[in-house]
Amino acid sequence: MPLILLPINAMHILNTMTKDAFAKFDFVTISAEFLPPYMFKKIIRKELLRIEEARKRNNNKELGEFWNFKYASLLILLHKVGVKIQDVMKSPPKSDELADSYCPLCDSEYRAGCLRCNECDTELKKY
Ligand SMILES: [Zn+2]
Repeated sequence: MPLILLPINAMHILNTMTKDAFAKFDFVTISAEFLPPYMFKKIIRKELLRIEEARKRNNNKELGEFWNFKYASLLILLHKVGVKIQDVMKSPPKSDELADSYCPLCDSEYRAGCLRCNECDTELKKY
């Protein structure tokens, strides 16, 4: 429809025709296929942690089943690409020597005494 109403869009017909090509794929699976291993590990770690957070916050049984399925699917993906979960879940490298803990979702570092990330409202993990 945009091609009919705005003929200038016809110049970008390939973009228009292919923009939804990967829309139905899972972005973590796409990242396993196309991104360097360190970026894939970062993405899947965050996804696994988000699922763990969602499980903690939501006691709804139907959503619980969904999160369990999603988590199990990601573990299968890790197995298929030959990456161990211990390798994915290890702490990120410390950029500030005084840092005591970090946010598992955004990797922000915190000094001793902080318990939750200011941005993500997630429980911090100790180095
Ligand atoms: Zn955070």
